[in-house]
Amino acid sequence: MRRVSVFGATGSVGQNTIDLIARRPEDFEVVVLTGGRNIGLLAEQAQQLGAEFAVTAHTELLPDLQAALAGSGTKATAGREALLAAADIPTDWAMVSVVGFAGLEISLRVAEQARVLALANKESLVCGGTLLKSVCIRHETTLLPVDSEHSAIFQCINGQDKVVERIILTASGGPFLNASLEHMAKATPEQAVAHPNWDMGQRISIDSASMFNKAMELIETYAFFDVRADQIEVIIHPQSIIHSMVGYTDGALMAHLGPPDMRAPIGFALNWPERADLPVERLDFGTLGALTFQHPDTNRFPAIALAEQVMARGGLSGAVFNAAKEQALDLFLDRRIGFLDMARIVEKTLESTQIEGQDSAPNLDAITQADNMARARAVELSKDINV
Ligand code: NDP
Ligand code: MG
Repeated sequence: MRRVSVFGATGSVGQNTIDLIARRPEDFEVVVLTGGRNIGLLAEQAQQLGAEFAVTAHTELLPDLQAALAGSGTKATAGREALLAAADIPTDWAMVSVVGFAGLEISLRVAEQARVLALANKESLVCGGTLLKSVCIRHETTLLPVDSEHSAIFQCINGQDKVVERIILTASGGPFLNASLEHMAKATPEQAVAHPNWDMGQRISIDSASMFNKAMELIETYAFFDVRADQIEVIIHPQSIIHSMVGYTDGALMAHLGPPDMRAPIGFALNWPERADLPVERLDFGTLGALTFQHPDTNRFPAIALAEQVMARGGLSGAVFNAAKEQALDLFLDRRIGFLDMARIVEKTLESTQIEGQDSAPNLDAITQADNMARARAVELSKDINV
């Protein structure tokens, strides 16, 4: 029996993780499940899997969680400190699929105790990649990527990292792949959230429409794998069948293919270093049709160029980029700015946020301070925008 925890169990990645764990009750002892506002689902998951602890991020929801878990044997706790304390409980395997910057500190705490940290929270690598990797090395924790592209790259590299020439990150292009700038300027959150291939949480779906998700993934690739920024390319592949590719110094290319189903990369991380049966559709090449590719249009999707700036600068610029992007997304969801204004705000925030003592390996305090400053700056910049 392996002791496992899932942070962000009620979300899109979290539910897929629970689905896989629930299929093999004899293999897993569930220690901690955490959620946010979805108390009903959290309690249901905890009861189904017999979790030791269920934790909600919101203290005001503790009475609801306690009531839902009465008589179940699962202990209910709540609030940020309770979440972090739960991250300290020893496990063999832990998934961090909390969304946003809130995931970084949880990842750092999990990295101190887990044997394997399965990381979906890309913000952890974008904001604190150097720090997180150093904690994993110090505590001999294996860090496995769960983002589908990074899982694909990891599987393609398969230990041959010394001879990697290039990494080709595939992108679906999202719902606005062929939309005009005029259409994108007027896009609503409802239109932006409708991803053509992947069923994901609201925030990452909108980030896919703006290609901020791909921008985050560029930085994530740079932070995770041992390559230079100029070795990473982005290519649009609207069918989302090739999840990414790795090119070697001998010209060979390895591609990872599969249906767009997050249970594939989650299951790979759950079973690592073995492979085991997964309930994912098998591709039928006879009916698949054409796989097509095109370069991203950097005029309509400026996020990619902003990620290149972040990789060139390093240090705290990933934290500034992510915070500005998260804040801009909140403003877009509140209909205070337009869809294209998100990139304008991130660009200006990157230009104008002064970070004292920008060093190459910042600690959590410095990263948190940069995050706060960038959020405040993004809000200030948004005041000049009229929708
Ligand atoms: P969701 O929004 O679906 O789920 C987020 C989870 O985090 C939920 O359990 C939510 O609780 C919880 N949560 C929200 N805010 C907080 C907080 N402040 N503190 C603690 N917990 C919180 O997100 P996704 O599952 O889509 O994405 C999760 C992460 O994985 C993101 O970083 C995303 O970029 C990454 N990712 C997602 C993919 C996908 O297919 N969805 C693919 C690749 C990467 P509740 O819902 O109960 O409020
Ligand atoms: Mg991805």
